[in-house]
Amino acid sequence: MKIGCVKEIKNNEFRVGLTPDNVKAYIAAGHHVYIEKSAGIGSGFADSEYVEAGASVLDNAADIWNMVDMMVKVKEPLESEYPLFHDGLILYTYLHLAADKEQMDALLKGKVKAVAYETLQETDRSLPLLAPMSQIAGRLSIQEGAKYLEKKFGGAGILLAGVPGTPKANVVILGGGTVGMNACKIAVGMGANVTILDVNLRRLEQLDNMFGAHVQTLYSTDSNVERAVKDADLVIGSVLIPGGSTPKLFKAKYLPEMKDGAVFVDVAIDQGGCGETSHVTTHDDPVYIKDGVVHYCVGNMPGAVPRTSTIALTNATLRYGLQIAEKGLEEACRNSEVISSGVNTYGGKLTNKNVAAAHGYDY
Ligand code: NAD
Repeated sequence: MKIGCVKEIKNNEFRVGLTPDNVKAYIAAGHHVYIEKSAGIGSGFADSEYVEAGASVLDNAADIWNMVDMMVKVKEPLESEYPLFHDGLILYTYLHLAADKEQMDALLKGKVKAVAYETLQETDRSLPLLAPMSQIAGRLSIQEGAKYLEKKFGGAGILLAGVPGTPKANVVILGGGTVGMNACKIAVGMGANVTILDVNLRRLEQLDNMFGAHVQTLYSTDSNVERAVKDADLVIGSVLIPGGSTPKLFKAKYLPEMKDGAVFVDVAIDQGGCGETSHVTTHDDPVYIKDGVVHYCVGNMPGAVPRTSTIALTNATLRYGLQIAEKGLEEACRNSEVISSGVNTYGGKLTNKNVAAAHGYDY
């Protein structure tokens, strides 16, 4: 199969769909790989590394779109790329079609076989191509929180770990899933006092077993959240109800009761946020202050660390990509429900129930 990878053209997107190591794996399996010049630069991969791995590096993205059987990307194609779609092209990338009718229509019109990272579901119902980004966002949330606790960024001027003779910072994590657990790991590692709240008692038990005496676990009720955030220096919002809207656990009325210069990192902002006072920010202008509390609400946090993010994402995408390339999408789907759960459009038809429902279509 001819596999392609073009440079991402979305603003501030520095990740890339294939690393040189991925290229080696596709070439070893008998495929040909075409990479756009400079596609990997934002993630620290030089063209020469792709050439060494066996790829052909081409100047023109349109040439790659036109010649390949499968395009491997990171983000959804943008409008300028729609005319490059062709009948039968396999597009393997994040798509988020439920929120993007224009793109969905373009994929249907182009008869693209679109496989969306975010809907590909393993047999245990986990979402293996979303998990690495949650791991990164969770770990990064403490790093960013620690930064914005610094005085010059509007924070209270507190070091998370303190030093002997000073209080440690109190970190409160709302939601103990993938993001929350990874945030917890880093906060504990940095020596903070950590409290983590969830409504899933089994999850709290796992966290208790994992972190032992280093962490206070609490069942998530309004009263427990209010009490915990009152003493917090750093609050992480990492709640998710799959398929539902994010509950606004972090209420506006808590802000005046909190410490001046406390920091709230609302990681869940990409699903609407779990703070009543949250609104999306960007890496260029990541924070704003409301009632003395610094809010960090960046919707694509992994974009801050593109090299790690690219390697983590492609570690997860490679396996399924190789299966699709080896068998072709049709046979790969016949052999694996996991692969077929990723297919969102095929031959001009919508093939994902949730995407169809989001646009009011019968399925
Ligand atoms: P997850 O499903 O693994 O975890 C969510 C947790 O929230 C679960 O343990 C669930 O029990 C808990 N929860 C549900 N209702 C709750 C409540 N009322 N109180 C306390 N806990 C509650 O999800 P995840 O992968 O950890 O993702 C969390 C959020 O982070 C999602 O919205 C995800 O989209 C977002 N995210 C954002 C970025 C970013 O760049 N901003 C990156 C990755 C993920």
